[in-house]
Amino acid sequence: MDTVLALAWLRAAATAVEQHEKELTELDAAIGDGDHGANLRRGFAAVLPAVEGLDSPGAVLGTAGTTLISKVGGASGPLYGKALRAMGAALTAGSPFADALDAALAALRKLGGAAPGDKTMVDAWAPAVAAYRSTGSYAAAAEAAAQGALATVPLQARKGRASYLGPRSTGHQDPGATSTALLFRALADAA
Ligand code: ADP
Ligand code: MG
Repeated sequence: MDTVLALAWLRAAATAVEQHEKELTELDAAIGDGDHGANLRRGFAAVLPAVEGLDSPGAVLGTAGTTLISKVGGASGPLYGKALRAMGAALTAGSPFADALDAALAALRKLGGAAPGDKTMVDAWAPAVAAYRSTGSYAAAAEAAAQGALATVPLQARKGRASYLGPRSTGHQDPGATSTALLFRALADAA
């Protein structure tokens, strides 16, 4: 991960979130409050000008995280924000990208308290991080995130707004796991 790739990743993520805003909104309307697409579009639109001109991948990803925390109302802003900040801090400390991904997942699990199987973005993050660790491939991470998102469909939500629906949260793909798959796909495409 270098500065050029970090910037290209965020640009690709902003484009992906914009292109898939409607899909994310519809998924969140089914088991949440319908704001996930707009939340992320607004957040990533604010990220791009904030990171322009920064000259290390740690600074780029850390600033992106801080921007998401301040611009995104809703659970996903602080969750993605903390994850990106932890990733940035790990890269600045000289850690390899696999360790930076671990740090990101740990930060979002600490903030949200979700475990794998709770039908949240953790269900896409965890397999993506594991796939990157074992293969060193961004494409493998993206594929694992997509599979993880798909696997949330039959699950009952135990964290976040969707958990208020109890058993009625089954049969729908989790919006945050879906956007996580988009972000890992954006990374693979940017690389
Ligand atoms: P909100 O739920 O506040 O409206 P968003 O709609 O932007 O926020 O994001 C919803 C997504 O956030 C969910 O689909 C889920 O993936 C993720 N999420 C919510 N709560 C948690 C949590 N405690 N831990 C991990 N992810 C969570
Ligand atoms: Mg929502």
